[in-house]
Amino acid sequence: MELTNCANCGAVFAKNVVDICPKCYREEEKAFEIVYKYLRQQKNRSAVLHEIAEDTGVEEDLIIKFLKQNRLRSANLPQLHYPCESCGKPITEKTLCSSCSSRIVSDWSTAKQEVEETKSESELGSSYYIDVKKNKN
Ligand SMILES: [Zn+2]
Ligand SMILES: [Zn+2]
Repeated sequence: MELTNCANCGAVFAKNVVDICPKCYREEEKAFEIVYKYLRQQKNRSAVLHEIAEDTGVEEDLIIKFLKQNRLRSANLPQLHYPCESCGKPITEKTLCSSCSSRIVSDWSTAKQEVEETKSESELGSSYYIDVKKNKN
C-alpha cells in the first residue's frame, strides 16, 4: 500500500486514483452534486463561474476542477469560462487554451534543441580544458 498526502487538506491516505483523501473526496462529491443539480436547471445554464459559486456555496476552484475533469459538460454551458492555466485566457475545456497547448508542444522541440546545443557546448568546454593543460606543459 502506497501512502500519499491529500492535495486538499494534506492528510495522509492510501494512494488511489484520486489525489485527495476519503474525507475530502466525500465533500467534493457532495459539492459536485450541488453544482450538477444547480446547472441542470434551465435558468442556471447561463450562469458564470462566480454566480454558480455564490449560489451553490461551492468554491470556484472546485467548480473549475470539475470542469477540467470533464464532469460538468462545459459544451452545454457556453458561459462557463475559466482561466487557462498558463496565460489566464478564458477557456471552456481542458486545462490550457489552444495557443498555450500548441506552444507547449513547440516548447518541447525547443527544449530538445537546447539540450543538444548544451551538449555540444560542453564538448567544446572539455576540449578547451585540454588545450589549457597543453599550454601549461
Ligand atoms: Zn483531505
Ligand atoms: Zn493560454
